[in-house]
Amino acid sequence: MKEIPKKDWSLTTIKKKIITMFRNNSSILDECTLINIKRIYYLSLIIIPSRILHILLFVGSSPTSKAWARGIIFSHSVLLVFWIVVLFVTYRLKDKTQTNTFIHFLQYIVVIVTMASGVVIVAIDQMITTNITPLLTVSIVIGAVFLIRPLISAIIYFSSYMAYYYLIALTITNQQVLLSNRVNGTTVVSIGFLISVMIWYYNYTNITQRKHIEMQQKQLERLAYYDPLTNLYNRHFFNKIIEKEFSYVQRYGHKSAIIILDIDDFKNINDTYGHLVGDQVLKQLTKLIVGNVRESDTVSRFGGEEFIILAPKISLDGGVALAEKLRKLIAENEFVTGATTSYITASFGVSLLRATEKYGPENYFSLADKALYLAKKRGKNRVEKAL
Ligand code: GH3
Ligand code: MG
Ligand code: MG
Repeated sequence: MKEIPKKDWSLTTIKKKIITMFRNNSSILDECTLINIKRIYYLSLIIIPSRILHILLFVGSSPTSKAWARGIIFSHSVLLVFWIVVLFVTYRLKDKTQTNTFIHFLQYIVVIVTMASGVVIVAIDQMITTNITPLLTVSIVIGAVFLIRPLISAIIYFSSYMAYYYLIALTITNQQVLLSNRVNGTTVVSIGFLISVMIWYYNYTNITQRKHIEMQQKQLERLAYYDPLTNLYNRHFFNKIIEKEFSYVQRYGHKSAIIILDIDDFKNINDTYGHLVGDQVLKQLTKLIVGNVRESDTVSRFGGEEFIILAPKISLDGGVALAEKLRKLIAENEFVTGATTSYITASFGVSLLRATEKYGPENYFSLADKALYLAKKRGKNRVEKAL
């Protein structure tokens, strides 16, 4: 009998999901850290005025318990100073696009101090009340606002609960209240942790999917514009560049040269040494050409062993000189692939990018191509220009 796979609830799937959740994926972690820093900044804008309000309310009222009021005022004052420092620090960091060790630590320091403040204030509050609202608030705020890895989150919530467990015993004298608050504390902290894990998992999935789509888009872009073997622009994209240059030539009246080069008897290289060596020759030739033309020139792989260069703002003779320089370099170069050393030559056709009826933007290469044909006919390894 064929076993029905319990896809979503099998032990291995759950294990995989848990591992993914806890895995230290640094690029996603970095992104979460940067989000946290931004959120800390905005949180400080809310927390600072609210601390000031707390302090004013306590100072202005006539408290029933002086020790309690002093403790609360002191805690909020310390928090106020802390959050002012955080505001200044995160103001500078919030627009950063890269993390560092300090930024990573900063987020945890803020989370830990926030959690600790909730625990301490609850403990002080127990002098006059049995409610544990501050612990509930910090537990939920930390879970909902910060993107923390579940493992770290678990450590923070657990140690906070332990601190809470022992600290409230210092201020609660009634054993039943102590027990009740300890029990209620587990619920509060568990809810906070649950929110934290859910928020993390939701964001983790979103970021992972977005990164995946971005990567696919980049790959598609590469395929659309570049030739995979040489990493040069492909013919399709080069046509677009020519169209632009054509409009510049028409608008500003300068001259730009087109150079087509075709390797001589390249079939022989493939036939003698094999296609892999042929590919390596094409790659090395690309480097040689790109390294010896101007930054402003555009090199493209036009076909199999045919390359085309757009050299803007040079004369026909300037184009011929460039082609002659490349011709010599190619003829003198040793193309080394493993133990194989091969030599090649190339023929060149040079023309100007012209705005005539016959040679418009669609067939800009025709003149250069004709010159190339002539170069082949006249014995190869030479440069011809189209007049
Ligand atoms: P010619 O001097 O007349 O240009 O001779 P040729 O042999 O260079 O020209 P032909 O057009 O007859 O053959 C071109 C060869 O280029 C055929 C093909 O095997 C090779 N070629 C085209 N693209 C690639 C490639 O991507 N890799 C390899 N290794 N060879 C290629
Ligand atoms: Mg050819
Ligand atoms: Mg050829």
